[in-house]
Amino acid sequence: MTRRKLAAGNWKMNGTSANLAELDALAKAHPTPGCDILICPPATLIARAAQAVPDQIAIGGQDCHQNETGAHTGDISAQMLLDAGASHVILGHSERREDHEESDADVRSKVVAALAAGLKVVVCVGESLTEREANNTLDIIGGQMAGSIPDVVTGENLVVAYEPIWAIGTGKVPTLDQIGDVHDFIRARLERRFGVGVGRSTRILYGGSVKPSNATEIFAVSNVDGALVGGASLKASDFSPIIAALESA
Ligand code: PEP
Repeated sequence: MTRRKLAAGNWKMNGTSANLAELDALAKAHPTPGCDILICPPATLIARAAQAVPDQIAIGGQDCHQNETGAHTGDISAQMLLDAGASHVILGHSERREDHEESDADVRSKVVAALAAGLKVVVCVGESLTEREANNTLDIIGGQMAGSIPDVVTGENLVVAYEPIWAIGTGKVPTLDQIGDVHDFIRARLERRFGVGVGRSTRILYGGSVKPSNATEIFAVSNVDGALVGGASLKASDFSPIIAALESA
């Protein structure tokens, strides 16, 4: 089964209107991309980004609330993201799990809400350094998948991002064998739970210090269908060569 590759950028809490020029540069550099491109800017830029970019670049949120509306000051619902022009949302990023104490159950209810609104979800899983050193990586990933991903997903609306916490923003990257082991495990778990159709069509991204200099070797690893990129997605001059590496993977 061929899965269309996905290069996803997570701008986190970075970017004001001046940074929209980076999207313009990205669109000009990839008028007919050979992979899907997704940029998740801060919520304040979603509507303008969605209006500014041509169709070949999708725009996503970085989180959503599990409820449609209500007294939740500062939160944003999945419907609001969709209304602003987003087609995707990242859920369960380790920074949300840590900073906002989001549990697997919280992530799962957000995924349910996002899918009900018609968004596609990028669900993040990943182990801490302590968990890896204790040889618990696959148990942690398996538990996060079971707890965070609801039964209602399809291969079209679910993307799983494997992001070892210790590799995010640190410049440290797992070995290619370590990445392959986790991606193969995630694929096997998806197939076991959802069947071969959904399991084989769901894209699995690697995230954690991906940059132009290591993208090609990471994209050659089995079951790596693209990347979720933080720091190196902020500038078109960094993200564009990562996209190019994915297009030729
Ligand atoms: C991320 O935050 O999802 C991420 C992978 O960050 P970075 O690429 O900066 O490590």
